[in-house]
Parts: sequence; C-alpha cells; structure tokens
Amino acid sequence: MTVSLSSTDHVVIVGASHGGISMAEQLRKHGFDGMITMLDRETSLPMERPPLSKAWLAEQGAGGDGSFLMRQAEWYKENRVEFRRGADAVTADPKARTLTLSDGDSVSWDQLVLATGATPRALPMAGGDDPRVHVLRVPADAESLSAAMTSARSMVIIGGGYIGLEVAASARKRGLEVTVIEMAPRLLARVASPEASAYFHALHESHGTGIRVGAGVQAIDTSGDALCLDLGEGEIIRADLVVAGIGVVPDLALAASSGVDHGNGITVDDSYRTSVEGIWAIGDVARCSGGYTRGQMRIESVHHAQMSAEIAAASMMGEDPKAHEVPWFWSEQYDKKLQSAGFVPADAEVVERKGRREGALSFWSFQDGALKAVEAIGDGQAYMLGKTALTTGHPVTPGQIADPEFDLKSLMTR
Ligand SMILES: Cc1cc2nc3c(=O)[nH]c(=O)nc-3n(C[C@H](O)[C@H](O)[C@H](O)COP(=O)(O)OP(=O)(O)OC[C@H]3O[C@@H](n4cnc5c(N)ncnc54)[C@H](O)[C@@H]3O)c2cc1C
Repeated sequence: MTVSLSSTDHVVIVGASHGGISMAEQLRKHGFDGMITMLDRETSLPMERPPLSKAWLAEQGAGGDGSFLMRQAEWYKENRVEFRRGADAVTADPKARTLTLSDGDSVSWDQLVLATGATPRALPMAGGDDPRVHVLRVPADAESLSAAMTSARSMVIIGGGYIGLEVAASARKRGLEVTVIEMAPRLLARVASPEASAYFHALHESHGTGIRVGAGVQAIDTSGDALCLDLGEGEIIRADLVVAGIGVVPDLALAASSGVDHGNGITVDDSYRTSVEGIWAIGDVARCSGGYTRGQMRIESVHHAQMSAEIAAASMMGEDPKAHEVPWFWSEQYDKKLQSAGFVPADAEVVERKGRREGALSFWSFQDGALKAVEAIGDGQAYMLGKTALTTGHPVTPGQIADPEFDLKSLMTR
C-alpha cells in the first residue's frame, strides 16, 4: 500500500529520541509540509543516549553546556515540530486515530509513528529495587548515578554488555573499585566475537576492573551500609552501588492498545509499517526482518534508529525507500574505540588482523567463507573498508585477511 502525505495531514510521533527526532527531520527533508507533533514523557529537551555511559559519567559535570542535546531548542521551531514534553501517551485508538495522554488530553493523527524505544530490564531478585541499584537509559538515570558516584567507593555492574562495560570504564576513571558480573561464559556474548570479548576482558582487567564471568547474583542484601551481593555457595561481594545492565525490554504499552502485531517488539515490514494501517514503528521498538537481519529481530543502535526513520519517512511520502544499510555500532571504553559493522554469527570463523597504527586491531567474522562482520578497535580504515565489503558483497577470504601483505584498499574495487 502506498501512502502519500498531503500538506493537510498530521503526523504524530511518540518518542523524541534518536528515532523520533530523525523521523521529524526526514519527513521535512522529504518535503512533508503538514503538521508534525512529537511527544515524549521525558520533561527535558532530548539528549543523546550514547554519552550517558561514556563522557557524562566519566567526567562529572560533562554535558552541562548542552553539548549532549540532540537538537538545540530553535530546531523544533525552525522545522515546525510541535514538541510536547512531559506528555505520556497511554492508549492509541486506531479506529478514531486518536492518542489519549495520561493527563486526559487527546491528540489525533493521520499517521502515527511509534518510536517508543525500550526500557531497562529490572533486576529480578530480592533487593533489586533498592535506590542504590541503578539503571541507565535516560538523562535522569545518568544524573542520579553520577551523583551517587561522587561519594561511593565501590560499584558492581551486573551484566557485561556494552553499556555495563562502558559504565565500568567511566567508574574506573573516577577512581571507583569496580567489579563486573556476567552470567554468560564471556563478556559481550550476545553481540561480539569471542576474540573481541577476550580483548575487552583483558582491557578491563588491565585497568583494574574485576571481571566475573559465568557468575550470577542470586539476591542483594540491602540491610547494611554496603549492598551485599550473594553469588551463591557462600560468596558475597560488597559494593556501595550496583548498576544493572542486563538488557532492555521494548516499550510496548501503546502497541498493545493500538492492536498492532507485536511480540518482543512491534512487527514491521521492510518499510517499518506495522500491521495496522497508518501506524509505523521505528528504532529499538521495531522488530524487522529486512536487509541484513537474521530473521525477525530488534536492532538497538543509533544507526538503526536513524535508518529506520529515513526509510519510514520516504515510504510515508510515497517514495521508494533506499535499501537497508549494513548495521553498524560503536563503543568507547578507556582510550579504545570499537567500531563494528554487520552481525557476528554464532559459528563464525574469526580472523584477527593488526592495523598499521600502534594498537590498531580488527576481527573479521566469516560464515561459510563469506564475510559477515568486522569489529575494529582503533582502526578506522579496517572498519570503513570492511563495511564497504559487506555492503558491496566484494569477495574477500579469511586467508586474504590473515595475510598482512593483503591490501585492504582492494576491497574498494569491484
Ligand atoms: C547508556 C546508553 C549508551 C548507548 N550507547 C550507544 C552507542 O555507543 N552506540 C549506539 O549505536 N547505540 C548506543 N545506545 C543505544 C541507542 O541509544 C538506542 O539504540 C537509541 O536510543 C534508540 O532510539 P529510539 O528512539 O528507538 O528509542 P529510545 O532512545 O529508547 O527513546 C524512546 C523515547 O520514547 C519515549 N516514550 C516511550 N513511550 C512513550 C509514551 N507512551 N509516551 C511518551 N513518550 C514515550 C521515552 O521517554 C524515550 O524518550 C546506547 C544506549 C544507552 C542507554
């Protein structure tokens, strides 16, 4: 079904983060002249999420100059986006095409975009709701964690994914004693190759972070001055603060009331249309199967939030959207920058390659001889050329990558 918006149409976007802001921007870029209303339950101007676990935590007071704002206040006016802060949409009625807000107000739409993202998974154990147990998703979380870090001496991070590890690096920078506890047998098990996991494990240990893999917290005793984490078999770890980085759950409250198909995310087609006409879903909340995905999956990254917005906006304007791009992601821990492209298959053959500069390194994942992902550490060239090869399908073999004489620049040619 082709949609083509007219200048009398009203597009309502729920969620003003990486997905929602990109959606408004892309609609204007694609020539939409009608009304755009964007609403978010957060009361502050939208801030970028990636710095929350990086610079925001590592340097107290960072971002106070507005440098983490996604857009300056004038942007909303210049782009004629009516932005309603502190507006919590509680139900969506697809027949009446109306949202109801928690304050009883209602907003009507011609097209509705759900960019509601995800919320941190709560710790499912006794003591998990203590105020000294923190999560990190929105600026208020970072503010409260950063403030707590000023008087804390020790922190335990439950979950060794990217966010947990970035928090660990930031906390070490501020002098806290840090332990990361990960249930899986290795760090970053869900997202990185075993070789990249081993690299980050060693990096954190070299900075004095304690790492426990294959270990789970069974309960947290909150009765004393310090939190006591019970790891079973009589093992207790004490900490002033705990950060839970055990993943997120998609925010599906509106999806449920609107009747769109959903499960672990809102099911969308390649253009980010949901099963209900006039309702779209983008960013972390969308469960898509287009492009490079492995079946139906949610992709949690700034790149996916922006790309899905661009594709949905073009489709809404009745244009042929561009093809899905190779998914990419970055992370910063201590002085290391990781850039990755593609998805690492579980059964990947991983080839390590040293870069030209001191400490530059990349891991190339192959499946049945075909390149599937590149993870580059301090090696922008390997990342860029690997991503190009993933996009063009330029043939490259594990043997070539393993050969230090092989010129990566040849991946640019067809
Ligand atoms: C600490 C941290 C570090 C990260 N670092 C990186 C990184 O280095 N690189 C990278 O690629 N990605 C990173 N990410 C992931 C990236 O930030 C997310 O993928 C991205 O924010 C997803 O954007 P989104 O717009 O889909 O959802 P979200 O950012 O989750 O935003 C959803 C918004 O919708 C609002 N909302 C939800 N429901 C309602 C409702 N019913 N009514 C009103 N408002 C509602 C919420 O308040 C929220 O503001 C990081 C995330 C975090 C939390």
